[in-house]
Amino acid sequence: MREPTQVNRKRKTIVDPESVTSWMSEGLCRIHPPAVFFPNDGAGVERARAICGRCTVAERCLEYALENRIEHGVWGGASERERRRILKRRRIEVSPG
Ligand code: SF4
Repeated sequence: MREPTQVNRKRKTIVDPESVTSWMSEGLCRIHPPAVFFPNDGAGVERARAICGRCTVAERCLEYALENRIEHGVWGGASERERRRILKRRRIEVSPG
């Protein structure tokens, strides 16, 4: 049964619990400037990764970014390069031997 729409009290946004992105309302990034997750250098990636490392929805976040082939930013603690590596590894694992 569909739960009533919830309100994320920290951001005062309406969250539809059936949305494929409802987990975003739980992300720690909601309390940081978006630019933190779109760094220009390795130090910035480390800063974002440290935040993601404490985030309770990091796994879902990473899978969302992988499934949707999101190219930019740090998602689920993984940089663009790391996500490309993960996708490449997965393609190798599922390809017939
Ligand atoms: S893992 Fe990182 S980018 Fe993803 S929701 Fe959490 S804090 Fe935000």
